[in-house]
Amino acid sequence: MPTCKKCGYQNKERNKYCVNCGAELKLTKEDLEAKIIKERGERVQKAFYLLASFITFAIIDVAVAYDFPLLLIGGLLTDVIICAFLWFTWLGR
Ligand SMILES: [Zn+2]
Repeated sequence: MPTCKKCGYQNKERNKYCVNCGAELKLTKEDLEAKIIKERGERVQKAFYLLASFITFAIIDVAVAYDFPLLLIGGLLTDVIICAFLWFTWLGR
């Protein structure tokens, strides 16, 4: 949260100017470092969710494949495609 250096108002992350007094909000080195650490944490969390959902899909596939073995290949292939798609759209860059 960028704090206005002129009036001390706590502005929202995306604001470029202070909502309260209109002064320009310049990110300090500490702000930038905190932002980078936060984004890195979010990416790790998203990657973990993706991995967890892939494992869940895989378990369901294996359970289904117990009755219909041929579905396992198709199911796992679909999992890989879905997770790869989510990975690139969600995590991006
Ligand atoms: Zn201000």
